[in-house]
Amino acid sequence: MTTPLANRAPSRHKGRVTGRPPPPASETPRQAIRRHLSGGPRTARELSALAHVSEKEVVTHLEHIARSVRGAGARLGIEPSRCQDCGFVFRDRTRLGRPSGCPRCRGQHLTAPLFRLDARSAPSVDRDAVAAEWAARGFSCGLWTDAPGQRWEDYTHATDELVIVVEGTIELEVDGRVVRPAVGEEIVVPARARHSVRNIGTTTARWLYGYRS
Ligand SMILES: [Zn+2]
Repeated sequence: MTTPLANRAPSRHKGRVTGRPPPPASETPRQAIRRHLSGGPRTARELSALAHVSEKEVVTHLEHIARSVRGAGARLGIEPSRCQDCGFVFRDRTRLGRPSGCPRCRGQHLTAPLFRLDARSAPSVDRDAVAAEWAARGFSCGLWTDAPGQRWEDYTHATDELVIVVEGTIELEVDGRVVRPAVGEEIVVPARARHSVRNIGTTTARWLYGYRS
C-alpha cells in the first residue's frame, strides 16, 4: 500500500490560502498575540517575535488571555512540552512558561509548549464540502490519520497536493519552511517540493489530502 504521504506532499508552501486580515495600525501586543494565536499553534518565542515583546511578557499576556477568553466562548489550548530524550509529556503542568528539565530522565532537550485559541465548539471541517470543492479544482480527497509522534520525513511527488487539518496538531515542513496549520486551513504543497509531516500533538491527528489528477 502506498501511504498518502508517499505521493502526497504535505507542504504548506504558498502558505495559507485562506487570507488573513492585515493588522490594525493601533494594535497592542496583547491584541497581536491573540490574533496570531487564532492562526494556528505558536510557541512563546514565535509570539515574542511577532508581537515585539519579550518571551516573558508573552507568558504574562497568555495568562491574561487564558482568563479573558473564558467568557467569550473560547479557550487557550496548549500542546504541552515533551522531552526529546525520553518522550515524557508535561501534561499536568499549569505554568505556561517553558520547563527547564525533564523530571523523568533529567534531560534538557524539551520542545516548547504550543499555544492557540480554540473556539469552545471546536471548528469543524465538512469533508463532503471539501471533497466537492477540491474535485471542482481537479483534486482528489482522502482522509489520513496519525497517532501522536508519527513523523513522515522528506517525501516528494510529482503532483501538487492540498492538505486541510481536520483535528489535532500537525507540523508541515516544505522545502525547509515549517508551518502548523489551524484546523480548516488549506495548505498547498507544490509538486516536487520536499516535505515532511509530523503529528506534534498529544492526540490523534486527522487531515484531508488531495492530489491534482
Ligand atoms: Zn526525559
